[in-house]
Amino acid sequence: MKINDNYSRLEKSYLFSEIARRTAGKDVLRLGIGDVTLPLAPVVISAMQHAATEFRGYGEEQGYKFLRDAVVDYYAPKGVGLENSEVFISDGAKSDLGNILDIFSCDATVLIPNPVYPVYVDTNIMAGRKIVYAKWGAPDPEVRADIIYICSPNNPTGEVYNKDELSAWVEYAIANNAVILFDAAYEAFVRDPELPTSIYQIPNAKKCAIEFCSLSKTAGFTGVRCGWTIVPHETGLNELWLRRQTTKFNGVSYIVQRGAQAALSPQGVVQNRANIDHYMGNAKIIMDALDELGIEYKGGKNAPYIWLKCPDNMTSWQYFDHLLNKHQIVGTPGAGFGSAGEGHFRLSAFAKREDIVMAMGRLREYSILR
Ligand code: PLP
Repeated sequence: MKINDNYSRLEKSYLFSEIARRTAGKDVLRLGIGDVTLPLAPVVISAMQHAATEFRGYGEEQGYKFLRDAVVDYYAPKGVGLENSEVFISDGAKSDLGNILDIFSCDATVLIPNPVYPVYVDTNIMAGRKIVYAKWGAPDPEVRADIIYICSPNNPTGEVYNKDELSAWVEYAIANNAVILFDAAYEAFVRDPELPTSIYQIPNAKKCAIEFCSLSKTAGFTGVRCGWTIVPHETGLNELWLRRQTTKFNGVSYIVQRGAQAALSPQGVVQNRANIDHYMGNAKIIMDALDELGIEYKGGKNAPYIWLKCPDNMTSWQYFDHLLNKHQIVGTPGAGFGSAGEGHFRLSAFAKREDIVMAMGRLREYSILR
């Protein structure tokens, strides 16, 4: 037996297990979670209930046409025209972000932001690719890459690229003959109408970008599992990806796809919007408290994450222990998202409203006592 030796190069993924270890048996307020806390929209539930009564065998690997058409319609108000053959229904963004790498050479050099959602790094280490890291901001023309990851709105920092900034990345990708893997998992949280919610709102992006999206946070589908991947014909990669999917994937369940179609319907969008508004209300409560306490942060305005600078130059884990032991508040240490996350801390607007209100109350109280 010869195993893939690249797996021995993976760093032990200890972030969430370490958080679980440090908080075991403690009654804590959980502001670290990246999972939704509100239920599915009523229109989604009834669509799935009805679909469960209809018999279906295997569906199309690429997704049912009714859902691919619904995705095309979802993009139209963004000013993005898609063909339904460019849409691939997935069981969530995480799978396809990893699977897409099947169609690229293991010799490719990959550009990954730091800090970032850890899946991009680990999936490339597994394939033995060379990774170079980039800070949030403009591309460095001196750095060459074949595959470029962009996550906007960003997890963990909550930052969002504007159109000019994204255009610079598209131009850079075209100049390098590179592909952009654009993770739009949090696009539904963008409030500023000037900010792009799809990379295809940028001229020429269809030549060089693949976009991944998810209903996990948009529609509370973290447990239901559905998303989509857009592979424009102009990239020259559509047929390759179709070949990969028809070989290795048998599609998302009919019931789930009917639920996803309902989530993207006008009624579904309104109902999901109410949940997103609630989460963004949570973000506002956190930001108001941090403003009052004079703690520096990013995000929260167009993303469900607030990325704060640990006070008093504490490291991420020192601040984690401080919040846990003084206030019984749990967040996520920034160092868990890459070396550039050190000294930072992520709070999540997906936490329960009562936990957020109580947690911010404790922080305020403590600052008065001090
Ligand atoms: N991309 C980012 C940036 C995420 O934060 C997450 C989940 O937390 C995902 C993708 C995965 O989403 P899904 O649940 O659709 O697999």
